[in-house]
Amino acid sequence: MSNVIELDHYIGGKWSPSKSGEALKVINPATGATMANVPMASYTDVGAAVSAGRAAFRQWRATPVTDRIRYLFAFREKLEYYFEEIARSITEECGKTINESRGELRRGIENVEVACGAPILMQGYNNEDIASGIDEHMIRQPLGVVVAITPFNFPGMIPLWFLPYAVATGNCFIFKPSEKVPQTSAWLVRLLDEVGLPAGVVQLVHGGKEAVDALIEHPGTQAVSFVGSTAVARYVYAQSAAKGKRAQCQGGAKNIAVVLEDAVMDMTSTIVADSAFGCAGQRCLANSLAVTVGGAKGVFTEAMIEAARTRRVGYGLDEDSEMGPVITPESQSYIEGLVDVSEREGANVLVDGRGKVVDGFRNGNWIFPTLIDNVDSASTFAQTEVFGPVFGLMHTDDLDGAIELINSQNYGNMACLFTSSGAAARQFRYAANAGNIGINLGVAAPMAFYPFSGWKDSFFGSLHAQGRHGVEFYTQTKVVVERWPSGWSRKF
Ligand code: NAD
Repeated sequence: MSNVIELDHYIGGKWSPSKSGEALKVINPATGATMANVPMASYTDVGAAVSAGRAAFRQWRATPVTDRIRYLFAFREKLEYYFEEIARSITEECGKTINESRGELRRGIENVEVACGAPILMQGYNNEDIASGIDEHMIRQPLGVVVAITPFNFPGMIPLWFLPYAVATGNCFIFKPSEKVPQTSAWLVRLLDEVGLPAGVVQLVHGGKEAVDALIEHPGTQAVSFVGSTAVARYVYAQSAAKGKRAQCQGGAKNIAVVLEDAVMDMTSTIVADSAFGCAGQRCLANSLAVTVGGAKGVFTEAMIEAARTRRVGYGLDEDSEMGPVITPESQSYIEGLVDVSEREGANVLVDGRGKVVDGFRNGNWIFPTLIDNVDSASTFAQTEVFGPVFGLMHTDDLDGAIELINSQNYGNMACLFTSSGAAARQFRYAANAGNIGINLGVAAPMAFYPFSGWKDSFFGSLHAQGRHGVEFYTQTKVVVERWPSGWSRKF
């Protein structure tokens, strides 16, 4: 008997086979084994989900917010109960280590917890007597059916950047996870089904471009949240705007860490190596380049060589592994190709992770930590998102030069500074053009109660994911100006 799971969409409160007849394999990136077949939704599948969402919306928005969040409290308990199983699912389909999977799930759960504050978060404001006997109020109302399209690299966390806020504020939510990692999403939906969330409030459609186009184009959807590569983020943003929908689209990144001479060097190299090689570099907040300033060059380079050489690469379910594989063989070839190009463009490969294999896992997509030096600011490597465990070094004379390098990038997801100087830190946070800043931190991931603030080509839109921004994104403001004539006021 085959162990391959046949996945279904979840539409109108039921697990539903796809009408399209098309499916893709879901492959464990460490073992190469096929774990599941994922259906590719057609316009018909998406149409059915939007209709079910629209049918559910009337009742859901009329459900008091205090009752809506009770489902989220129950969902949170389920996530805690099945925490290890879900973390395992993340590792199996996405490749990261089990500890990294636990970490991302924890950050996802924090978003559920924050969204439980919806009774306060979605409050409006008011004034009495804006004119004699006339009052004015602003209230927030849900949009209707809203959509999220998510990437492969955080299958447990990124859907939860959106789902809890959308649902708590009274919307019906349809999400389309990456076709490479659909099983963790199925876990999330299974738990929402178990807590009795009404049919149509959260729905799952699997698929690729056709499903995305159908979700954007359908006149019954009101807003689109997207996380993925910049090219697709830009496309989804433009398509959504053309249809008159609000959109928040998070894209790719090229995050630079600046290391000053006065940084605490052993801490800095440990943190930067974790950022660069953690999750096999497949984090939108991975440091991809360091710029050393002045005398930081020698000691930092030596420490990074040591960190790259000694990181334990292996199957993510093995508790000793410190780094897993990359997501697909295509991704592996792309990343190795970028190292080849860098060499041709004059960079020196100090630690070479190409062409390596983990014992017992010959079919995995392995690249070991790779370190390249003397990256030129005009080179392909300096300008291109790698999304793999390859870290580049550049060197400059002063902090101004390092900030200039950051600001010349098209991306603006995160920039980090390592220093002991408060004045340097202040200058950096003031002048670096990136939406997330880390001072002596290598993965400056905003907590659930802060916006995930990408800039430039890393984000298209105005309201980001998470926290208050999430609540604002999923609600529209209505302003009411009212006069209630009474015996007393009639004389005015
Ligand atoms: P991707 O752009 O390939 O896919 C993202 C989603 O878009 C998936 O659901 C996919 O099915 C869909 N998609 C792919 N091609 C499409 C097309 N042509 N038209 C419509 N939809 C399409 O991204 P990925 O490889 O899954 O994820 C990695 C990327 O995501 C990296 O660039 C990374 O930096 C970025 N990312 C950004 C953030 C952030 O917060 N800025 C967070 C995580 C990941």
